[in-house]
Amino acid sequence: MFIASSGTLLGSKELPHFSFHFIRLNGSDKTPPRSSAFTEMEYFSGSLAFITLFLLNTAICETTCGFAACPAPKLNMINVHLVPHSHDDVGWLKTVDQYYYGSQNKIQHAGVQYILDTVVEELLKDSKRRFIQVETFFFAKWYSEQSETVQRAVKKLVAEGRLEFAGGAWSMNDEATVHYQSVIDQFNLGLRYLKETFGDCGRPTVGWQIDPFGHSREMASIFAQMAFNGEFFARMDYVDKKKRMLELEMEMIWQSSESLKSSNIFTGMLYNHYSAPPGFCFDINCEDAPIIDGESYDNNVDARVSDFIDYVKNMSKSYRSTHIMVPMGDDFQYEDAAVNFKNMDKLIKYVNDRQSEGSQVNVFYSTPSCYLYELHQLRQTWPNKTEDFFPYSSDSHSYWTGYFTSRPTQKRFHRDGNHFFQTVKQLSVLANLSDTQDLEDLDNLSQAMGIMQHHDAVTGTEKQAVASDYDRMLYKAIVGAENSARDALRSLTNLTSGEFESCLELNISVCALTQNTANNVLVTLVNPLAHSSTQYVRIPAKNENYLVTDEKGREVFSEVVPVPWQVLALEHRPNDTQHELVFKASVDKIANFLIRVLPSPKNMAEDQVYFPVERDQQESQELTVETSLAKLTFDTTTGGLKTVEMNGITENIEQSFGIYKGYRGNNGESKNRSSGAYVFRPVGDIEILNNKLELSFYNGSRVKEVHQHVNEWISQVIRIYEDVNRVEFEWLVGPIPTDDEVGKEIVTRFSSNISSMGKFYTDSNGRELLERERNQREHFVPDMSEAISGNYYPVTGQISLQDEQKRITLLNDRAQGGSSLKDGELELMLHRRLLNDDAFGVGEALNETQYGTGLIARGKISLILDAASGKPNQRLVQHQLDQHFWKFFSKSNGVASVNRHLIPDFYDFPKSVELLSLEPYSKDQILMRVENFNTEGNVVSFNIYPLFESLDGDQIWETTLDGNMLLEDVKRFKFTQDGSGTIPSSAEYYYAPHNPLSANSTMNASAFVVTLVPMQIRTFIIQQKYISS
Ligand SMILES: [Zn+2]
Repeated sequence: MFIASSGTLLGSKELPHFSFHFIRLNGSDKTPPRSSAFTEMEYFSGSLAFITLFLLNTAICETTCGFAACPAPKLNMINVHLVPHSHDDVGWLKTVDQYYYGSQNKIQHAGVQYILDTVVEELLKDSKRRFIQVETFFFAKWYSEQSETVQRAVKKLVAEGRLEFAGGAWSMNDEATVHYQSVIDQFNLGLRYLKETFGDCGRPTVGWQIDPFGHSREMASIFAQMAFNGEFFARMDYVDKKKRMLELEMEMIWQSSESLKSSNIFTGMLYNHYSAPPGFCFDINCEDAPIIDGESYDNNVDARVSDFIDYVKNMSKSYRSTHIMVPMGDDFQYEDAAVNFKNMDKLIKYVNDRQSEGSQVNVFYSTPSCYLYELHQLRQTWPNKTEDFFPYSSDSHSYWTGYFTSRPTQKRFHRDGNHFFQTVKQLSVLANLSDTQDLEDLDNLSQAMGIMQHHDAVTGTEKQAVASDYDRMLYKAIVGAENSARDALRSLTNLTSGEFESCLELNISVCALTQNTANNVLVTLVNPLAHSSTQYVRIPAKNENYLVTDEKGREVFSEVVPVPWQVLALEHRPNDTQHELVFKASVDKIANFLIRVLPSPKNMAEDQVYFPVERDQQESQELTVETSLAKLTFDTTTGGLKTVEMNGITENIEQSFGIYKGYRGNNGESKNRSSGAYVFRPVGDIEILNNKLELSFYNGSRVKEVHQHVNEWISQVIRIYEDVNRVEFEWLVGPIPTDDEVGKEIVTRFSSNISSMGKFYTDSNGRELLERERNQREHFVPDMSEAISGNYYPVTGQISLQDEQKRITLLNDRAQGGSSLKDGELELMLHRRLLNDDAFGVGEALNETQYGTGLIARGKISLILDAASGKPNQRLVQHQLDQHFWKFFSKSNGVASVNRHLIPDFYDFPKSVELLSLEPYSKDQILMRVENFNTEGNVVSFNIYPLFESLDGDQIWETTLDGNMLLEDVKRFKFTQDGSGTIPSSAEYYYAPHNPLSANSTMNASAFVVTLVPMQIRTFIIQQKYISS
């Protein structure tokens, strides 16, 4: 179902959009966790007065949003910007639906629909009032339920800058455990909705990341690339904050990228978390006194005004300018917004009345964008910031580094969701899907992924019932989008009735389509990469003799590899398939392979290639495993890895598993803080598991696997493939035992002789690397009372270390915490199971169970050893691993062929350039985002005219990173750094960082050249030619 563009214009191009449909989130009626302090309360409904107000207030007006709508400050005064806001988690202690509807209030009193109802009602009463709305998921759901009259009123509020959007993505995403691709997608979703609904006035200009537990440089870079003017947040290391308050460095210019120019972005740290000043919480959930100004013995105006003036004077001592911003709100506040606004009205009146007595405090309703506008006008200078705000610690024993790993299976599922989402988006474009249901299914997956980015979703810091609800929702959305993928593949191949099913349990070698037999199973591989790729494909299968053929009927070499017994022993795993059929496939975009079972016996007995390795089997006490590109040796007396040789480098690399014991305390004071969902706090040092490992060796012709049994609940496959320049470690951890009443956090550690001098490197949300130095921070001397936890950093894609000769890189498959606690050593935390809550709100111990015992997790880490002098291409390898072939399964008697004429080629893309997105943007528009994955080196250029033509392009234009604003319209605040010499004579701006591409089908192909500097991303919208149906 499409709706016509409601007059929303982007430059001269009319942009019709998808209508937004809401995922039904019903059925999340889980048993409520323990109750909170809040009590159930009654609700106000809309009043007659409200309706009257509509009639008075919804007259058509001139658009005055943006800075024209900002309140006027006063000279020579402390100008206090009161910013009414409500922090509405898209799931945490309650599910998203429970929060929206206000059910299960005994868990937490919160009902977002009522917040929006009453805020709109109160805003309409007085044009000076302001409110910022952040989470577009909640807003869109609420708006879709409103009458036309209310919608008109809301449009007026937005057009007049009285209701302003900040952030504006589907959720307020986390910054440690998210992948940048998903963050960009969820901003595309939220900002597209706001543009469709409100036009330019709906576009936010500031980031409002007030609750995430630490802040990434990549997030700041994404804001800069979306042309935001700045971002605000409320959490940083408490030592850093204290120092910045003293040194007037609470606000700064963040150089958000080492590789992109004009990436500086203003960044502001809030003073008192994101809460109202102590004593001034005028919310039904608070017990602070209202402003009592009548004829009453209780009249408190004088005292309250004095308290407020003292507060702002004190606060202003920590900030540089004559403006300060005071947020007025907190979690789920404004359910009865009249209470909040009535008291703020009075506060403003009486504080300003004091000016006649000489007070120099001027207070007014405002928004973060108006506050930032005033700072920009001042042309002051600001301190510089270059690294990030990880790890976050809130006291000397509370490093919030546990959530980097919490709920490892959910973190993996969310990455699978992204992988599938990218695949289906591309298929939808290639097949030109126009069926309403298909596009709705795709949109539902987009929304589910937006919700998953929330800072209590992918972080693993929600209650168990909420985590289960997220899983249910994402699973449902994936299953829905499988229909879109199937419809697309039916038109892109000649298999018009193929099933094209996905198997979501391939990580434990389970797939319904091959469970009985893999005979006559057609595997359709979809390659989300721009470049053709060759990969090993693994299919759960029985131990039979197989023939795999490609589309031309040519045999493709394959072999059957045993699945480790530890996987086969998993409870509730159907055990029909105990092997995996492995074949090597080369795929441009889509390719089909047919599997057949041959009647002839296998030509090699299995025990010849798969055998247990006895400890005294070889005199050298060494097991050597090698391909033409890599060689591993194992010590057969310990069973452990000893050396790795690849890329012409040899290094002693030992790998082990270790256990940190989670601290258990009553959380009464800092030193009693428990290890929990947020906080990682080990007791003592790591316990390395150095029991003798049992080894089995599968010596295939192209696949070599060493299966290690570590203990009853840890095992691993170490694997190398012919022609692949990596070593794969596929770990299986769990159920983590807790019979000893000790919670445990499991890591894998790689030790080498590389002399890394305290330094190591971790990625920021899967993109740029940051250098970390043990026990050091950029701006302050950290409190290292927790020396292990305080050296943990988020690892979304890679962690590495090096000396002058050698470099080791570990690439992971989901977000994890990682560190280098000793020179030459890297570790990643794989799984955690804890018995205490850490008292930061979730109110439950992170103790995940399944089938009545501790949750089991499985995953992969890839190791690359190379010369430190070489240019690393690890980012590209990581992208190839993330976006490997997606496998679709059908039953078929013959091999199917791909309708190649329907599939554009990407041959013009330089090697380092990849597709970051190719997706339907609206009914006849395609969004394409390309990225240069080179971290250094040359600028690359290529021509996209052939691609434009094969996508039936009529026009193409370039946008900001999110896809919703013309790049040529960029005008972003530029601030001046301390010590930069001259102060500009007028306010300065950043404009489009390069000449935006804009072309149409009548123009010469030379107008379609795209140039990318290392790490650059560019986003385009392709308007397709009108095709009459
Ligand atoms: Zn939150």
